[in-house]
Amino acid sequence: MEEAERICAERGSRFTELRKRILTMIWQGHKAVKAYDLLDQLATEGGSAKPPTVYRALDFLMDEGLVHKIQSLNAYIGCPHPGEDHISQFLICDNCETVEEVSSPALSKAVSSAAAGQSFQIKRQTVELHGTCSKCAKDQKAA
Ligand SMILES: [Zn+2]
Ligand SMILES: [Zn+2]
Repeated sequence: MEEAERICAERGSRFTELRKRILTMIWQGHKAVKAYDLLDQLATEGGSAKPPTVYRALDFLMDEGLVHKIQSLNAYIGCPHPGEDHISQFLICDNCETVEEVSSPALSKAVSSAAAGQSFQIKRQTVELHGTCSKCAKDQKAA
């Protein structure tokens, strides 16, 4: 959170209370968080945040590189290394919904050159891998 505040301050971005609250909520667990879960939680806290405000806050956090959107889940996850320019891959556990961010330069390079081979211009590169995390795999073995 301090890191996030520092990044926003450096860029002169407005890090409002709501944006802080949303970022904290996204960071609460290792799971990706859906926008309506955020709305629900804000409502139970007595807030009056409207969906467009929350979506704007999420766009802001994404623009600042503080969160990533997991397209296949339509959910958001905090970025462990904000402020760094990086292309990441996401390991998504279909069992416990934990999302882990990994960054493999070799993989993003391979994707880029495959696209270049087709003269395709990549706007956004997101690799989302679905499967079973190590913890769930262990649990399944034990069961
Ligand atoms: Zn990241
Ligand atoms: Zn799992």
